[in-house]
Amino acid sequence: MSIRESIIALKETIPQSVSLVAVSKFHPASDIQEAYDAGHRIFGESRVQELMSKYEVLPKDIEWHFIGHLQGNKVKYIAPFIHLIHSVDSLSILKEIDKQARLAGRKIPVLLQIHIAQEETKYGFAPDELEDLLRTQDWKTAYPNVTFAGLMGMATFTDDVAQINAEFESLATLFTHLKTKYFHDDADFKELSMGMSDDYPLAIEKGSTLVRIGSKIFGVREY
Ligand SMILES: *Cc1c(COP(=O)(O)O)cnc(C)c1O
Repeated sequence: MSIRESIIALKETIPQSVSLVAVSKFHPASDIQEAYDAGHRIFGESRVQELMSKYEVLPKDIEWHFIGHLQGNKVKYIAPFIHLIHSVDSLSILKEIDKQARLAGRKIPVLLQIHIAQEETKYGFAPDELEDLLRTQDWKTAYPNVTFAGLMGMATFTDDVAQINAEFESLATLFTHLKTKYFHDDADFKELSMGMSDDYPLAIEKGSTLVRIGSKIFGVREY
C-alpha cells in the first residue's frame, strides 16, 4: 500500500473523536508531503534537528507534535511553532518550556509523560512522583506560559495483551484522578495520548484521544 492508501485506510478505522498523529520520524519530507496531499495535517517527530529541517520545507499549516525526549537547550528552536509537546518528563524541562514560550510570546500546550511500562528505559514521571509535585505547587501559577493539555504514556513492548491493557487502563485511571483533583475547572486538560502502530486499538478502547502511529503509515524505519 502507498502512504496515501495507508493513511486513508487507517483513518477509517479510528473513531472521529480520536486524533491521529502521523509519526514521521526517520522518514523523508517527501513522505510527509504524500500524507499531506491525502489530506492529513498532524505529524509527530522525536528529534529537534530533524523536525526543524522538515518544518522549513513543508507547508506551514501542518500541526507539528513533539513526541520524543526533549533536551532543555533545544526547546528554543521549536517554541515558536510547536502545536503540542507530548513528552514533558521532568520539572526542569517544564520550566524551560515555560521560559521559551514566554520569549516566543505564546502559550505552549504540553502533555505530562507518565512512566507506565515495565521497561526501565522509557522516560516519564512515576504516578506517585507526579502527584507529590502537583500537591506541593499550583502548576498553572508556576508555569503561566504552558497549557496543561493532558497525559501521555507508552505501554511495554510485549505480545502480552493483558499487560498492555492493564497499563493503558492505569494511565486512563490516573488521567481521571488528576483531572478531578487538580484540573477539574480546566477545559484544556482533556487529552490522553496513548497507542502506537501495534497497540492503538487497545488504547482507543481504554479512552485514548490521540494515537501516535508511524510504521503502519510510513513503513518500517531505517535508523
Ligand atoms: C516512534 C514513536 C511512535 C510511533 O511508533 P510506531 O510503532 O511506528 O507506530 C509513537 N510514539 C512515540 C513516543 C514514538 O517515539
